[in-house]
Amino acid sequence: STLIVTIDGPAGVGKSTMAKALARHLSIPYLDTGAMFRSVAWKLGEGAWEWDEARLQAALDTIEYSLSGIGQDSVLSLNGTVIGDEIRTEEVGMWASNVATLPVVRTFLKKAQQDLGARFSLVAEGRDMGTVIFPDAPHKFFLDASVEERAVRRFKQLSAMGKPADVEELREQIARRDHQDRNRAVAPLKPADDAVVIDTTDLDKGQVLAALKEGVA
Ligand code: C5P
Repeated sequence: STLIVTIDGPAGVGKSTMAKALARHLSIPYLDTGAMFRSVAWKLGEGAWEWDEARLQAALDTIEYSLSGIGQDSVLSLNGTVIGDEIRTEEVGMWASNVATLPVVRTFLKKAQQDLGARFSLVAEGRDMGTVIFPDAPHKFFLDASVEERAVRRFKQLSAMGKPADVEELREQIARRDHQDRNRAVAPLKPADDAVVIDTTDLDKGQVLAALKEGVA
């Protein structure tokens, strides 16, 4: 059977960075489930969260994900096309959060995520990996940090991709998205009862990674 490690937490906390590094350490793929929600939102387009369920389901039924590679070289593709940086804006993040409130979308992605988890060992990162998708995972983490610190981290990430942003605006967007993710009816963002919660506000990447490695050792 496969080994599943889950990392959940709010926007901008550094889940992807840490998931990549931990997956590299374990020599297994990492799965960015936020990229699955973002790519659904991107493919369906703005306003799809207002479509009726039959139309949404028909659109979802044309989508297939595949995963290859290990560690930071893991590649997630939608219908054979690598998911690129076009989904990495706060605007598409909010679209993703909007479609992520819909049970029909969550049910579709739950199956896609669990199918990947049955085929590959994974470091799986998102919002509900430990609570809903992989409740039996032997190692679960929940990363947290102040919204101010997360806005700065997201700012640096976007700058590195050549997407300049405003820290104050990012702070507001992230706070709004977290509020929606924490308060939705289905699979709200929260730590699993058996997750190790790490407040990373005052930790650097090396310190967070050390804590994760120790947790899976
Ligand atoms: O992690 P990322 O910021 O890329 O996620 C985008 C959005 O997708 C989140 O704000 C959340 O609403 C949704 N999401 C989710 N469940 C996951 C991963 C992401 O609801 N497992």
